[in-house]
Amino acid sequence: MTDDFTQADLPGWLRCNDPNKLEKLWELADRERERRVGNWVHLRGLVEISNHCIRSCHYCGINTANSALKRYRMQHDEILACARQAVDFGYGTLVMQAGEDPDLDAQWVADLIRAIKRLTPLAVTLSLGERTPAELKLWRANGADRYLLRFETSDRELYTSIHPPRNNQTVSDRIALLRIIQSLGYETGSGIMVGIPGQTCQSVVRDLLLFHELDLDMVGIGPYLAHPASRITRNGCPDADIEQVPATEQMTCIVIALTRLMCPEANIPSTSALATINSTQGHSHGLTRGANVCMPCLTPVQYRGLYEIYPDKAGSKTTPGGSHRTVLETLATLNRPPGLGPGNRSRT
Ligand code: SAH
Repeated sequence: MTDDFTQADLPGWLRCNDPNKLEKLWELADRERERRVGNWVHLRGLVEISNHCIRSCHYCGINTANSALKRYRMQHDEILACARQAVDFGYGTLVMQAGEDPDLDAQWVADLIRAIKRLTPLAVTLSLGERTPAELKLWRANGADRYLLRFETSDRELYTSIHPPRNNQTVSDRIALLRIIQSLGYETGSGIMVGIPGQTCQSVVRDLLLFHELDLDMVGIGPYLAHPASRITRNGCPDADIEQVPATEQMTCIVIALTRLMCPEANIPSTSALATINSTQGHSHGLTRGANVCMPCLTPVQYRGLYEIYPDKAGSKTTPGGSHRTVLETLATLNRPPGLGPGNRSRT
């Protein structure tokens, strides 16, 4: 924590609506970002390897109940081609994300990781949902470096209401799973959506304290964006009764800035959801208010529109080359260099 910021300031900043004061927060976060993780922006190539999902998360457009959605699962060689593309573009990391898809067989994923590690110098990040400790251990043993699993909200009641258990299983505990992921030696990422209907400022304060307590290596934060095929079809909007957190760009940036102050060394992406809510400036606002990572999408064009976790996702109609050019243009405007190498979590 810096001299100009303490944990006691969190509720005040989350409730702040004064543009002049917010400029001060952006400055604090940007200064801390530069001091702790430098000016580089690490680029992680994102490949959405499957949109099959057995979960029925009420927020997510690819939930199992969305029967109108055409499902796909990428082939081993198609994913390797994306990995080569990531190397050609100069990225240091490949992120493989998917719905929770048991047909992504654990050994198949392990072989894929091994092939990527053999053929490229890329760091490999997985974001495949809640998988068993044995599977997570197998993937780590085969070379996976990082795992991303957002806990979405630390408010237990809200979490349970939006993330129902599978069949008759007990409610999942993503926070416990994150601790297992850490114990397996992964660089560990988590995060939240901002503005889930029912989310309060108080609960976001607890989310921020939990990021710090878990000593996360990566923290991803994006606005909640309502999807017509999900159970929650409205956006969070201010509500006097429960002090609803708004799902706005400003609120998302406040949470990103506070995350930088709470977790100064973490890698924090400027997310696609932020670029979706503000298509012209979302990415650059994230990068000047605490973030130091971008995740350009490398998913082949025939699949990217189908990985529709929320509507009109930024970049869903462009090509990998198009996403690459957009991110480089943003960095050039901000005078920030692309990071070299895998861009591991820094420890100062
Ligand atoms: N199956 C994986 C990946 C899910 S998609 C998993 O569950 O971890 C990655 C992230 O997208 C989710 O963790 C969630 O935070 C975000 N997301 C999903 N639906 C969203 C929506 N409607 N609006 C904004 N973000 C959403």
